[in-house]
Amino acid sequence: IRPSLTLLGLGAMGTALARAWLAAGHPLTVWNRTPARAEPLAAAGAVVAPSAAAAVAANRLVVVCLLDDASVGAALSGADLAGRDVVNLTTSTPAQARARAAWAAERGARFLDGGIMAVPPMIGVPGSGAYVFYSGPEDAFAAHRDVLAVPAGTTYVGDDPGFAALHDVALLSGMYGMFAGVAHAFALIRREKIAARSFAPLLSGWLTAMTASVTKAAEQLDVGDYTLDVVSNLAMQTAGVPTLLSTAEEQGVSPELITPYLKLMERRLADGHGDEDTTGVIDLLLR
Ligand code: NDP
Repeated sequence: IRPSLTLLGLGAMGTALARAWLAAGHPLTVWNRTPARAEPLAAAGAVVAPSAAAAVAANRLVVVCLLDDASVGAALSGADLAGRDVVNLTTSTPAQARARAAWAAERGARFLDGGIMAVPPMIGVPGSGAYVFYSGPEDAFAAHRDVLAVPAGTTYVGDDPGFAALHDVALLSGMYGMFAGVAHAFALIRREKIAARSFAPLLSGWLTAMTASVTKAAEQLDVGDYTLDVVSNLAMQTAGVPTLLSTAEEQGVSPELITPYLKLMERRLADGHGDEDTTGVIDLLLR
């Protein structure tokens, strides 16, 4: 028989998680603030607990997937957490995760925080690429790794409970930077007779090729030398800024999404780092 567990929260993500554990044959106790959302899962074999406290009492492993950190505090306030292993998949900040870990420890629970790198349709689908960052005590992660691996892959990033949230938000932040560049690129071609769908493979191919810069920046950061293996140095790249801005102007496109990054490149150049890669921009961001 497979290990049993409890899941609090049956929103879009919680429901997808629940279905994956049920499909894999794990006895599952669920609770949701709005009871109606548990009905389809009851039909699929889940035990529906009448309260969060009752759901927590049912199993040692308690997975939580609620809206935000405040809802986790609200849902767990009346539950006895002593001896439980709480795995919080609710999106939070690193500081919230650390505070929640201390809060759980005071109540006698082991606490793992998780950051879900997937959308609900990817959950429980082998090969979808879905995974979850976990951080917190390694023994707690090891104890539940196999159960946690059912809905999505697992990537353990350290015993600091804030690290899962930090990795999650760092990846999302990188993604939004990319979305900003993509939005600007599409805006540039928008008023011309260029079909977005014919431009798209060119843009995505270029972005894919440019992801090599991530690895190179990491090597430069770790070595502490931003001139390491530079191909196009900052002076050369910054010389192209007027062309980028003039093209935006010619096409009637606001440069507001790309200007912040270009300005930082110019500042780093003005500080005397023209022979470096763009990696030095990172130092300008550190307050
Ligand atoms: P939903 O909005 O679909 O569900 C929110 C859940 O939180 C519901 O179960 C809701 O209960 C519950 N809830 C909200 N406030 C409270 C409260 N005060 N007390 C108790 N329960 C509360 O969100 P998702 O399921 O999509 O997301 C859940 C978590 O997963 C979030 O932290 C989200 O950031 C994260 N996540 C979601 C992704 C996605 O694509 N959906 C991707 C990656 C992470 P009720 O039904 O009663 O309203």
